[in-house]
Amino acid sequence: AIALSNVTKSFGSTQVLKDISLQVTPGEVLVLIGASGSGKSTVLRIMSGLETADGGEIWVNDVPLHDTRRSREICGHVGMVFQQFNLFPHKTALGNVTLALIKAQNLSSAEANKRGMAALERVGLAERAQHYPSQLSGGQQQRVAIARALAVEPKIMFFDEATSALDPELVGEVTEVMRGLARDGMTMVVVTHEMGFARKTADRVVFMDKGVIAEQGVPEQIFVNPQNPRTQQFLSRVL
Ligand code: ATP
Ligand code: MG
Repeated sequence: AIALSNVTKSFGSTQVLKDISLQVTPGEVLVLIGASGSGKSTVLRIMSGLETADGGEIWVNDVPLHDTRRSREICGHVGMVFQQFNLFPHKTALGNVTLALIKAQNLSSAEANKRGMAALERVGLAERAQHYPSQLSGGQQQRVAIARALAVEPKIMFFDEATSALDPELVGEVTEVMRGLARDGMTMVVVTHEMGFARKTADRVVFMDKGVIAEQGVPEQIFVNPQNPRTQQFLSRVL
């Protein structure tokens, strides 16, 4: 579980997170929505230990991230998927997935390959294991990136606009993989512009506006009966 309590963050003189309190419980799929610049990625980066907060408290599995700066330890238990896949072009799909297992987790290549193949299986790409990124579609490349994150056996997965760089016809195969993870009980924090995904897959939707959580609730509540005028305004533009 992850808990942010009164978290603040500034870049220079601009306060981008004002007072964020948010908990993610095991098995929960939390979807963050909101306008560009509202602070969604910054929340994700602080939760995953990639970024430090200025104030407030962050707890990851009862370990206080704010006190001990144990972000490296935490990073081992989280998987991150970004808009850009960042695969190594000269490595195969399997080579990309096993790299961290061999370099950071010191697994033997046999063990790494076994785990890597299981991860590729999970995203439906076992038969493409020996293909290079240039031989894969954008959707397949992003699924390799998801497999790479899964291979370290994370307790929580973060997705930051994982489908935003994809051609529209490739979005579905990636959201389908994400839905499968959700069904399997993975704890997930997802930033997305895919309101269909948010509606169908989220346990809870959090709407961010200018560095604060303006509204949160189950998808039906947020999409059908939003209470905050800012949420109504945002949804009227994106739906
Ligand atoms: P988008 O939907 O465009 O990805 P977002 O909701 O993810 O937006 P953030 O990336 O969290 O927004 O950014 C929030 C604010 O913080 C923005 O005004 C952004 O310009 C600023 N910001 C983010 N990262 C940095 C940084 N490293 N240095 C300076 N300013 C930053
Ligand atoms: Mg962002």
